Amino acid sequence: MTTASSASAETRAATAALEVIGAVEPRVAAAIRAELADQRAALKLIASENYASPAVLLAMGNWLSDKYAEGTIARRFYAGCANVDTLETIAAEHARTVFGAAHAYVQPHSGIDANLVAFWAVLADRVETPALERAQARHVNDLTDEDWAALRRELGEQRLLGMSLDAGGHLTHGFRPNISGKMFDQRSYGVDPATGLIDYAMVRDIAREFRPLILLAGYSAYPRLINFATMREIADEVGAVLMVDMAHFAGLVAGKVLVGDHDPVPHAHIVSTTTHKTLRGPRGGMVLCQPELAEQVDRGCPMVLGGPLPHVIAAKAVALAEAGTPAFRDYARQVVDNAAALADGLLRRSVALVTGGTSNHLALIDVSIYGLTGRQAEAALLDAGIVTNRNAIPRDPNGAWYTSGIRVGTPALTTRGLGTGEMDQVADLIHTVLTHTQPTAGSKARYTLDAALAAKLSQSAADLLAPFPLYPTIDLG
Ligand code: PLP
Repeated sequence: MTTASSASAETRAATAALEVIGAVEPRVAAAIRAELADQRAALKLIASENYASPAVLLAMGNWLSDKYAEGTIARRFYAGCANVDTLETIAAEHARTVFGAAHAYVQPHSGIDANLVAFWAVLADRVETPALERAQARHVNDLTDEDWAALRRELGEQRLLGMSLDAGGHLTHGFRPNISGKMFDQRSYGVDPATGLIDYAMVRDIAREFRPLILLAGYSAYPRLINFATMREIADEVGAVLMVDMAHFAGLVAGKVLVGDHDPVPHAHIVSTTTHKTLRGPRGGMVLCQPELAEQVDRGCPMVLGGPLPHVIAAKAVALAEAGTPAFRDYARQVVDNAAALADGLLRRSVALVTGGTSNHLALIDVSIYGLTGRQAEAALLDAGIVTNRNAIPRDPNGAWYTSGIRVGTPALTTRGLGTGEMDQVADLIHTVLTHTQPTAGSKARYTLDAALAAKLSQSAADLLAPFPLYPTIDLG
């Protein structure tokens, strides 16, 4: 809870930090200041962004950054890690409590890193350990050159089944240009062409035929819920590990909006996440897992991760403490209510949404009915003071660069305090931009939007945000 004295402490801390930084490189202090001004001015609908609390932000700006702590709690490759051990223990404890997880590994520097840790933990448990046992070796260094070559081949032959990029999956879920597509023999499942929803019977059919080592569920741009109990049934039937990447919806899990079959933690063998999206923590990642994978997960650093970032781990601990509060549950519920209100407002104005709406924190607008690409719509919306990102829609004819979709999400605006009433006004602004933007013939990037109208809409966006100041406790004068 923010009190008058904590508010002034936050202002003092931010002001002092900028003074100290500015004394060394004034341009850096100026850019940090400018970023706050930009964030305050933006009507931010980027579904993967949020605003962390001052406590989370301040936990990162200190001397914890000076410490090397490769390894894991109480098993470090460096001396003098007692305080890092304390912080990592606190963060992991909060993570286990908030998510009801058996084990939590809080070191990954980002979501992509968390996925790599998870992939390699599964590969080690399911492929490397049995190979060592067969060779009666304790360590890979004890293998003969032939056995080692055979193990490397076996690791390279493993299969990953994840959601396709254009259906809403993430590029780390087996997309060929990404390392995940190069590491694994990969196949993907899409969505039902008629409904845009995951077709579990189809996932099951592909899994039966492909027999993946890892069945991966999770998304960056799927506006509906996933039934993780069904996904686990499918994984069990084909002997796969169920991995869930909850990067986008971790805050909805922590806030107990996603429960039962929609909570991945009790169903998955292993769960990866970011900490900075709906979870509202520092930029970073995390892995939760069942006990049998814990030892391999804890090998993340230095297996695939560089040295831990103790200052970010401290901030994760603060954010996870926040995520365990009743206020965070209210926040998570409001995120979903706001997304539903935004989707309703768009649908009432005949804006097309993939799957016809949303059940989570995001919606995916199909802008092709306006003759626009996602790239044109994204730029026109920005002209009107609305920050979004373009996103492919299922079977997108414009590919992943130009796209035909705009992804909108409510985590950030909800943190600012906007509610369902404001969401209708946001929908109106979006609709006005989309219906007044003309694509330039022959171009997927150029467009025209009347400058006076864009200025008027920007002013409306600013007026809408005015009663909801961002970081109200930080007054930089
Ligand atoms: N996984 C999913 C589902 C994501 O949406 C993202 C980011 O957008 C990531 C992983 C990667 O997270 P990061 O950018 O922190 O590496």
